[in-house]
Amino acid sequence: MHIRKRVLVTGGAGFLGSFLCERLLNEGCDVICVDNFYTGTKQNIVHLLSNPYFEVVRHDITFPLYIEVDEIYNLACPASPIHYQNDPVQTTKVNVHGAINMLGLAKRIKAKIFQASTSEVYGDPTVHPQPEEYWGNVNCIGPRSCYDEGKRCAETLFFDYRRQHNLEIKVARIFNTYGPRMHPNDGRVVSNFIMQALKGNPITVYGDGSQTRSFCYVDDLIEGFIRLMASPFEVTGPVNLGNPGEFTILELTQKIIEMTGSRSELRFDPLPQDDPKQRKPDIRRAKELLNWQPTVPLEEGLKKTIAYFDQLIKAGQC
Ligand code: NAD
Ligand code: UDP
Repeated sequence: MHIRKRVLVTGGAGFLGSFLCERLLNEGCDVICVDNFYTGTKQNIVHLLSNPYFEVVRHDITFPLYIEVDEIYNLACPASPIHYQNDPVQTTKVNVHGAINMLGLAKRIKAKIFQASTSEVYGDPTVHPQPEEYWGNVNCIGPRSCYDEGKRCAETLFFDYRRQHNLEIKVARIFNTYGPRMHPNDGRVVSNFIMQALKGNPITVYGDGSQTRSFCYVDDLIEGFIRLMASPFEVTGPVNLGNPGEFTILELTQKIIEMTGSRSELRFDPLPQDDPKQRKPDIRRAKELLNWQPTVPLEEGLKKTIAYFDQLIKAGQC
């Protein structure tokens, strides 16, 4: 009899989590999605609910959880600056208490555990592109600190559990990722610009738009997650996962206006405090250890994302 691997995905109803659950189900896993629906939605996973190997548990991971699984992907945490700054104390809690709870569970049941860390651990980087060896440039008392320091502390906990308890850990540092199922109002740049362009509203460029980001399409990222989880025990990470193509925010507006045929105008708003000036992953480690690199060019990923938001608007869902 084929024994299905049981996999827990925290934050499974979110943007990335829903794609991960789908991918794991397609690979024949028994998937348990744990989410408190803070930023995730049932809409993101409704198409999975009829699968008998998919379960949803409404639970806040800042509280302990007891469940028997073989692998844990810890993704629970709001990712958009607007959402994580809305309740900053809860953001630190989900990152720190949440990590302690999930690591404690992994230790008890001897499960492998993956952490969705972030390029924000590099802060406003003074090294470019950012390799994993770079320790970062992070403000510990600013509006982004709840997220940046929360994720940094989570990494510390993962590596201490490894050193102290020999736990099998996999830490991915995720760079800006986009795609269908991003929340239309979550304030992140790709979803904001596409929604604004499709609705003919002004496109809100923060600062002068010269800051850069590197945008990875969701399918590429999920492939990286799966490869990292499947890697040998010695491979702990941190491993950068992101697309090294680097664009200014102004370049992104031009692409989106062009691809949507929008008549929206640009509106220049103040740059948020501590907004990183440049960001681009050095992915040599992921190439070497996981034989992974992104394959979806920005235009192709944007096309699919635009189609998704267009259909949401036409269906009157946003
Ligand atoms: P998202 O906001 O769409 O998903 C986060 C999910 O976590 C949501 O479903 C939310 O309801 C759930 N959640 C939040 N607090 C919770 C709690 N206390 N208990 C249980 N569930 C909770 O964000 P996303 O883009 O899917 O990001 C997923 C993970 O990847 C996050 O940890 C984020 O920090 C990390 N990450 C994402 C990006 C990106 O570009 N998308 C970049 C770097 C890191
Ligand atoms: N940004 C922007 N207009 C928006 C939303 C974001 O100019 O409507 C900028 C933001 O200031 C940042 C970049 O786009 O420089 C990426 O922002 P996002 O919130 O998507 O993610 P971050 O990388 O800052 O976490």
